[in-house]
Order: sequence, then structure tokens, then C-alpha cells
Amino acid sequence: MIKVTSVYQRKRLQDQSLVILFIKPVFKQMIWGGNRLKADFGYDIPGEKTGECWTISAHPNGDCKVYTVGGNSPYDGKHLSQLWKEHKNLFGHLPGNKFPLLLKMIDAKEDLSIQVHPDDAYATKHECGSLGKTECWYIVDCEPETRIVVGHLAHTRAELIQMIEDKRWAELLRTRDIQPGDFFQIEPGTIHAIKAGTLILEIQQSSDITYRLYDYDRLENGKPRELHLEKSIDVITCPSKEGQDCREFSRQQLAGGVYREKLTRCVHYDVDRIVVKGSYTFLQSEPFTILGVMSGEGMIDGISIKKGDYFILPAGYGDYTLIGTLEMIKVLS
Ligand code: ZN
Repeated sequence: MIKVTSVYQRKRLQDQSLVILFIKPVFKQMIWGGNRLKADFGYDIPGEKTGECWTISAHPNGDCKVYTVGGNSPYDGKHLSQLWKEHKNLFGHLPGNKFPLLLKMIDAKEDLSIQVHPDDAYATKHECGSLGKTECWYIVDCEPETRIVVGHLAHTRAELIQMIEDKRWAELLRTRDIQPGDFFQIEPGTIHAIKAGTLILEIQQSSDITYRLYDYDRLENGKPRELHLEKSIDVITCPSKEGQDCREFSRQQLAGGVYREKLTRCVHYDVDRIVVKGSYTFLQSEPFTILGVMSGEGMIDGISIKKGDYFILPAGYGDYTLIGTLEMIKVLS
């Protein structure tokens, strides 16, 4: 039993909308997927080629269900998209007809295709009003000497097109080495690819628009997967901008064993890494807060949480106390 000490706790006892919304993930099998989402995160994956686990999503291609501890809130069993439409209060009445973010854990056992995403303007026009896709990656784990593709080395659009036509991929693609804990911001128009041996958390706008530029001539069910060369060339930024690749972050020590690092902040999301060894009470950032446990276990306001759990603190939730040994990612819209 938690001792009621704050005004927020008192408010939460009276208002049943102030409840932690836990999210049931949706899994995607991919030709490049593996089984680490089970082996490392304990998820109940559907098969040995599970590439993606959508941990926070209201997108029609993978709309997560919500549950609460106790299971007797009006939100239990509903889809996140439904809560977004019917219970705007939970999200601080944030404008927009779509839940804005999508979080995925990705297990790349094989290389992912070389790809690029459009921005909002291009997607609205060419993809039936979809959002564009700005995304970022937190490298949860990777094998030694793993690399990643971010950006390209063509100087002009003519050179870019020529190199794509000639399939001079090794010459065109900018790669760099990665380590666990690295962070990448991938703006729309940036050529990118996750390579084999990488486990990442991807935080992105709620969009599923990907233009595939090159797929290593692989076959899926006997056929190559579709490429989208024209659209890719339309949206690729040229020359490539230097990406925001980070290994060092500004760290705010909050107490002994408790600190917060700012991974990124852009117009679409704001991402922190929080490490707690012991206990600490945070004040929630409005309008709502997404939290995911990357490693360790412990409690939030007396509720057990462990690696792989994702949940949302609704608007007005107030303060929250984390106890245990926890590494968490906090995302704000
Ligand atoms: Zn992508």
C-alpha cells in the first residue's frame, strides 16, 4: 500500500480517468526479423522472423489495445485510436484527428531495405493525406562492428540519380559504426537502413509510408519486394544533410543514482532517457507522457513494471514515483 502524500495522489484516488494506460504491443513478421524480441524482451512473439513490435501505436496498420492494472477502467480492451477519438481529456485535448506518435522495437536479424520517408507536405499530397515520417533510433543493442546507413555521398541530384541507376550502392551510401546507447535523428528525405544484428527502439510520427530504394535483390515468397525509385528520388535530400548522430548527451543528475539525459527534441517529439537506481518522484510533463522500460525492473506508483513494458500517463496524472533499477525512455508529443 502506498502512503498518500501528494495532492496528485489524492486526486487520482477520486478521478478514475487518472489511471496508467498500459499498452499491448502488436507484432510484425518481416523477412529480415528474428527472435530477439522474445529472447531479450520476453515478448510473446508470433514467429521466428518477428521484425517489429509496435509498442505504442494507434495507426490502422497496428492499433494497440489498452489495459489497466485491475482491469476495471472504462479504457480496458479499447484501441488506442479509440481513446484518442473518444477520450480527448486523456491526451490534454491535443488537437489533431490522429494519435501523433508510433513507437516500435525493431529486431534486425538481417539488413533492412535501403529506404527513405517523405515529409508531411509530400505525404499529404501523394499518400492520401498520410503524415510524413520523421523518426529517431535509440540503439538498444548491437553486435560488435555493426554499421548503419544514414545519408548519402552524392553531391548533386544528377549524380544521385546516376549512382542509383548504376546500383553503385557502396559508393553512394554513407555508413557509420554504432554502439548500444547511440541515438540518431532521421529527418524525412534521409536515406537510411538498419543493418543485421541491431535491436533498436524507433520513435516516429504515426505514419507507415516507406519508399524502398534498394532491397539487396532479396526475394519474399519467390518475388522481389516492390521498390519505389521515383518517389524515393523525389524526396531524397540532396546533398545529404549531416545527421544528428549522438553518443554523448547532456545529463541532468536528479539524485544519487537518478539521472536524465536529453536524447532529442524536435517539433514531433521530445525524448529523454531516465535511469533510476533507488527511488525518485518525477512531475509529469503535459499533455501526456509515454514511458517504456528498456532494462531492469521496479515499480511505478506501487505497480510492478519490467523491461519491455510501455505505458501512458494521461493528462493531469501529476507526479509519479519510480522505484527499482530502471532504464526508461520517456517520450512527449
Ligand atoms: Zn525508416
